[in-house]
Amino acid sequence: MCSALARINLLALNADEVKGFLTRFGEPAFRANQLLDWIWRKNAATFAEMSNLPLALRRQLAEVAVIGTMKLLRAQESKDGTIKLLFALQDGHTVETVILPYEIGDSVCLSTQVGCKMGCAFCASGMPGFIRNLAQEEIMEQVLAARRIEQARGRRLKNMVLMGSGEPLDNWDEVLAFLEAVNDSQRLGMSLRHVTLSTAGLVPKILELAQKKLPLNLAISLHAADNDLRSRLLPVNKKYPLKELVAACDQYTALTGRRVTYEYILLDRINDRPEDARRLAELLRGKLCHVNLIPLNPVAELPYRPSPPERVKTFAAFLGEAGLNVTVRRRLGSDIAAACGQLRNLFCGDPNEG
Ligand code: SAH
Repeated sequence: MCSALARINLLALNADEVKGFLTRFGEPAFRANQLLDWIWRKNAATFAEMSNLPLALRRQLAEVAVIGTMKLLRAQESKDGTIKLLFALQDGHTVETVILPYEIGDSVCLSTQVGCKMGCAFCASGMPGFIRNLAQEEIMEQVLAARRIEQARGRRLKNMVLMGSGEPLDNWDEVLAFLEAVNDSQRLGMSLRHVTLSTAGLVPKILELAQKKLPLNLAISLHAADNDLRSRLLPVNKKYPLKELVAACDQYTALTGRRVTYEYILLDRINDRPEDARRLAELLRGKLCHVNLIPLNPVAELPYRPSPPERVKTFAAFLGEAGLNVTVRRRLGSDIAAACGQLRNLFCGDPNEG
């Protein structure tokens, strides 16, 4: 019997590759479609349950192939219905995924890297530094696992957000391969309209993404409308300052026709003053965009505090009056440290856990 490491992960293959792989078993061609159907439509986690495949084939497959390589170590459910999943990867690293319940349809928040290089001042995910990129099949496995859990609790995944740990545009090849698998009718078969990619602002990659003209939602972690403050909060701003970032987003809108979302975490007395709102309104005036205000999810070791609700209201009202489209993000899962910026892949001893 092959070791788990030597087995082929079918989640890494497209339909043609699965067909090619099956030829070695001397099975008729339709078997590949049955196998694909089990993996991608019926959400099978094992070969044993693939009841319309001959038993001998199921056994052979189990010896040489796997459907995913990750192990679910823990699933925690918050009072508000948010579920945080902790997975062990094959090399022993861990990664987190969050299922977020919304009335308009549930979302899954996916990690794209173990750790992160961005070093944003308010975020827990980058605290351990960068460890490695996730492969496209590891990003996909998070979706399939979430879909299974949703099915079991009578809910359905509608949207995906690349907002877990990691910077998706810093893992370009794998994230693009993942998006292709999402959109592929023989694999996940989901429109990219249901996917939001959030970036700290890697300008050259935003421009490259724009050229691809995908119907994907782009979100920018803006968090400040002046360069000094933004560079302190998001070091990536030193390399790609605001003017270039906003110009790249304009280009994205021009090429794709899609509205860009600007995310803005409100930090108590750091970026929530009237002059901050004024600067933000000036920066984004007249653009096809949406501002998503995010109450900070505090991270124990970090000095930042969320803006008080009154200030959030005032800030949002100012932007609204200035003609911007603005919403305040609902905070979900903070009781299980599953909220934005709180993911840090700790198996135990998370200081945010109650
Ligand atoms: N690297 C990508 C995606 C991961 S962060 C990015 O920077 O966009 C996903 C979202 O969570 C971003 O908007 C990020 O700014 C936000 N976030 C990070 N830390 C947070 C915190 N402590 N509280 C609230 N939101 C946070």
